[in-house]
Amino acid sequence: MWCCRACGQPWPCAQARLLLKAEYADDQIGLSLYLCGLLHEAARDLYRLNPDDGPAPADLFRRFVAWGPYRRPVVNPP
Ligand SMILES: [Zn+2]
Repeated sequence: MWCCRACGQPWPCAQARLLLKAEYADDQIGLSLYLCGLLHEAARDLYRLNPDDGPAPADLFRRFVAWGPYRRPVVNPP
């Protein structure tokens, strides 16, 4: 389900994001690649579990990738 084992929030929660940023402080490219891989895995799992009612792709992108390095602020389409 991709929920945090510690707090139950959708993973990566705020604490998990802090830990990831610390762990990858010297490897921003590695963090970016890792987050993209997680987005792919989470999309596969969550759409398999909820084929008709899964999360919106834009929400998954924000959750896994948009907060990481090399991203401009998310701009909502008109
Ligand atoms: Zn948590």
